[in-house]
Amino acid sequence: MESLEAALGRAESLSVDELADAIESIGFECTRCGGCCTAIDDEAGTEPHTATVFPDEVRQLQAAADERFETSYDWRDVARPMPYGLDEDGTGETFEWALQTDACGDCTFYEEADDGTGACTVHEDRPLVCQTYPFSLALGGTGEPMGEAVDREGLVRAHECEGLGRDIDRETAEELAETLKERSIRDLEEAIELRERYEPRPDADGAVVHDSEGSKRPDGTPLDRR
Ligand code: SF4
Repeated sequence: MESLEAALGRAESLSVDELADAIESIGFECTRCGGCCTAIDDEAGTEPHTATVFPDEVRQLQAAADERFETSYDWRDVARPMPYGLDEDGTGETFEWALQTDACGDCTFYEEADDGTGACTVHEDRPLVCQTYPFSLALGGTGEPMGEAVDREGLVRAHECEGLGRDIDRETAEELAETLKERSIRDLEEAIELRERYEPRPDADGAVVHDSEGSKRPDGTPLDRR
């Protein structure tokens, strides 16, 4: 399997032009349906929205929300431990943060207008995963590639989204490609840092999140080293 360092080298050398070609070939325009910001409801029940957010993005969102809503947002208002890997009672160890959700399971920053169109209340400061949806890059070491291959090499993937297939101009495709590349590099850098700092903490009470900055409690405070 490709090492994280090799995958990072590959990510850094990606051609934005070629990524933009792939995005342009399938086409995309956000329809503001809210599908990527809300819980999934199906016969199996409701699955809360889950989107990965990096630790520095949590702080950026806290600052943006403080300014936007003129109130003080703490870490838990913005992020929660990624549930994958945790026990049913929410305890255990996990390796990522997810955007916080509201009582309906939607992203805490999602707002729906009376006409049904969705809006992100922190649009300018939304995390990289939101800026690049529905696209991802299938590079070794990053999270599972999502969706169908867009290019012949299978590098650019697109998750199911009603905005796919719509016209996109070259400038927008290039901006999206640049951000997609940036996200992949960040993802791999985070994974390398996490691997360096990881120390199992089965002794800790409640949930523990291991991220690129160390081990944290669900409120974002560092867990004392043993
Ligand atoms: S931060 Fe904004 S774009 Fe991202 S999931 Fe939440 S509402 Fe949607």
